[in-house]
Amino acid sequence: MTDAALSLAQALDRIRAVVGPAGIITDDADMAPYLAEWRGRFKGKSPAVVRPANTQEVADVVRICAAAQIPIVPQGGNTGLVGGSIPYEEGREIVLSLSRMNKIRHIDPLDYSMTVDAGVVLKTAQEAAEAADRLLPMSLGAEGTCHIGGLISTNAGGMAVLRYGVMRDLVLGLEVVLPDGRIWNGLRSLRKNNTGYDLKHLFIGAEGTLGIVTGAVVKLFPRPRQVETAFVAVPSPGAAIELLARLRAASGDAVTAFELMSDVCVAFALKHVAGSVNPLSEPSPWYVLTELSAGTHSDSFRESFEEALAAAFEEELATDAAIMSSQAQAQQMWFLREAIVEAQKFEGGSIKNDVSVAVSKVAEFIDRAVAAVEGACPGIRPTIFGHVGDGNIHFNLSQPEGTDTAAYLARWDEICDVVNEVILDMDGSISAEHGVGRFKKDEMPKIKSAVEFDLLQRIKAVFDPEGLLNPGKMLP
Ligand SMILES: Cc1cc2nc3c(=O)[nH]c(=O)nc-3n(C[C@H](O)[C@H](O)[C@H](O)COP(=O)(O)OP(=O)(O)OC[C@H]3O[C@@H](n4cnc5c(N)ncnc54)[C@H](O)[C@@H]3O)c2cc1C
Repeated sequence: MTDAALSLAQALDRIRAVVGPAGIITDDADMAPYLAEWRGRFKGKSPAVVRPANTQEVADVVRICAAAQIPIVPQGGNTGLVGGSIPYEEGREIVLSLSRMNKIRHIDPLDYSMTVDAGVVLKTAQEAAEAADRLLPMSLGAEGTCHIGGLISTNAGGMAVLRYGVMRDLVLGLEVVLPDGRIWNGLRSLRKNNTGYDLKHLFIGAEGTLGIVTGAVVKLFPRPRQVETAFVAVPSPGAAIELLARLRAASGDAVTAFELMSDVCVAFALKHVAGSVNPLSEPSPWYVLTELSAGTHSDSFRESFEEALAAAFEEELATDAAIMSSQAQAQQMWFLREAIVEAQKFEGGSIKNDVSVAVSKVAEFIDRAVAAVEGACPGIRPTIFGHVGDGNIHFNLSQPEGTDTAAYLARWDEICDVVNEVILDMDGSISAEHGVGRFKKDEMPKIKSAVEFDLLQRIKAVFDPEGLLNPGKMLP
């Protein structure tokens, strides 16, 4: 129900009365970190950043905003890469940050589940699970900052999808504040529940367009007792994918991570990020960082890993490998992988593509996409890495050396279209894990069939008929 007479100032006064002075920020300098994406690609304006302390406060704030017709941008750790958590420049939307809702509500070791506030930082949740001798397997480069609610709302992937799945696979239950201020309590930890449409799946990956996630029950797992990490030189992406299939079979599907990196990526990291070390002495065109984990400790686990790698050498699927000699060396290998993200900044403009194809088509995609972008922009430097065990490639493209950065970045859409054409021709996805946000929303009518697009729009209209929740995100 709207209250047309309620001005923005009056609405903010009512919100302040709900959340208290600690729960609302209106000073421009204090709001600044909430209004810009970390890479600086998106910036917005807002009359206020509101930080409720609990679910009821979220519901009360949403109700006031609905009455005053104030649009809301939900925000977690603000590590998203498609501008979904940033308001538009018009300055009409408030930002609703979940950052004060950061309690671990309950850990149930028998259920292998954990109930948390949406604003709990992933690293904190991982540590709480570990303290209870359980594993929360979600892991990604932004884990020290991103929230459980943000991970759910983007259906995040990360390093361990191969074994444990994406966020959608890890959620048992949700608590959500709907756009009209009602609270849906779906905080169940049931493994089986076939009683009609499973509503939680609509909110997972909805990028804050259908409701505000305030709490979640997530799955936990037994903690692995043995983790073996190796850095492997491979001659080609095709060899890497073949190696993955062999390792999965030889280990009883114990591969938890399988990250591909081109020599360009590794060279960038070694050049620009202090502490990066290549554990191998000879250069290779491609590398794989792989991790296998087991529930119990045994010498035979490592031996069979070594045997599988030795067999791969004989069949020329791998040319060299360093298997971790210590935990510190494993960390160093992961550091090199993470450093790639940072290192690209120092090589001028970088046009990013977060795409996926069927695992078996990764090599074909890389060949075709590299040829296509080199044709469109001679001298372009593909910086290819990613979670190829999931068919997910970060197909990033650094500008040709010695060229103008602004002129190169002005070709962003054109060059992404070149990549997307290959992806769509191969039945792939133009956004494997980062989502759509404001960045790719205009692609949606092009990549969805008319039927699918119509259903998406109608689902949005059912939940949010006034269009007040994260407007202009995900759907154009
Ligand atoms: C260094 C780095 C590495 C990354 N690696 C990966 C990776 O490996 N895999 C991957 O999938 N992503 C990755 N990301 C992207 C990002 O970390 C994820 O998308 C993450 O899930 C975003 O969480 P967040 O809490 O920061 O959400 P935000 O950025 O704050 O928000 C993301 C979206 O979710 C919505 N949202 C946030 N919280 C809520 C809520 N409680 N209720 C409703 N809507 C909400 C926002 O409106 C926005 O649309 C990476 C990012 C960085 C910076």
